[in-house]
Amino acid sequence: FGTDPLTQRIKDKEKEWTYKIAVLSGKGGVGKSTVAVNLATALAKKGYFVGVLDADVHGPNVAKMLGVEKEEVLAEKFEDGHFEMIPPMNDFMGQTTPIKVMSMGFLVPPDQPIIWRGSLVTKAIKQLLGDVKWGSLDFMIIDFPPGTGDQILTVTQTLKLDAAIIVTTPQEVALLDTGKAVNMMKQMGVPYIAVVENMSYLICPHCGNKIDLFGEGGGEKLAQKEGVDFLGKVPIDVKAREASDNGIPIVLYDDTAAAKAFMKIVEKLI
Ligand code: ADP
Repeated sequence: FGTDPLTQRIKDKEKEWTYKIAVLSGKGGVGKSTVAVNLATALAKKGYFVGVLDADVHGPNVAKMLGVEKEEVLAEKFEDGHFEMIPPMNDFMGQTTPIKVMSMGFLVPPDQPIIWRGSLVTKAIKQLLGDVKWGSLDFMIIDFPPGTGDQILTVTQTLKLDAAIIVTTPQEVALLDTGKAVNMMKQMGVPYIAVVENMSYLICPHCGNKIDLFGEGGGEKLAQKEGVDFLGKVPIDVKAREASDNGIPIVLYDDTAAAKAFMKIVEKLI
């Protein structure tokens, strides 16, 4: 069997991306997209060339979080007849390099729920990898859908990931699912796997005390148990939610606890 043209294009393009990093979570709502966006921005702040692929069909909001609104995506036609989309870029003050962004959200009308069959979702994600003019990148960051679904499996079989970052909250239930996501990445042979704990604690705005809302140290214990790295804890930061609603990643607000946490995580990662 030969490789189909789309898969071949992905294989050709991935040679131009130094590190391919997937961001996953066992379940939704733990801050997976927030972590993906802030890691990307922290890397761009440090001068790396970063591409972000928003592959979360259920809530494709990475583009908005990066300040890129849904826009007409331009495409270029190639001699063999295939088209390649030009990824929109963001360029915030505080970033050294602009970030290239592609999203499932660009491909569907904003008010339409995406009710695609799994195989169509897989095809769409593959197109966002292989039919986009990404060019050469230091980091390609993929925000996967939550859970351990088929699409993740297929994409991970096509693309050779260098790292998988699993995002969890310290809560017990999230952790059970997190274990599954870690094991999926192990089974796929991803060489570097690490856990990031989000919404770890809250700094009381009045007294400055640390409050462990959801228990303590769960993410780190899980990482230990699974024998993977623990990259760090991100506190609940009221400004983080406000910032992401405004399309500005919190890591650009230097003096916040969340920004400091994300910069530390990136230092550990690279
Ligand atoms: P997921 O991608 O896992 O579904 P999101 O990244 O969309 O989760 O985050 C869910 C919500 O929680 C968003 O409104 C986001 O702004 C908020 N959020 C995530 N992390 C934090 C944090 N550390 N502090 C405050 N709010 C956060």
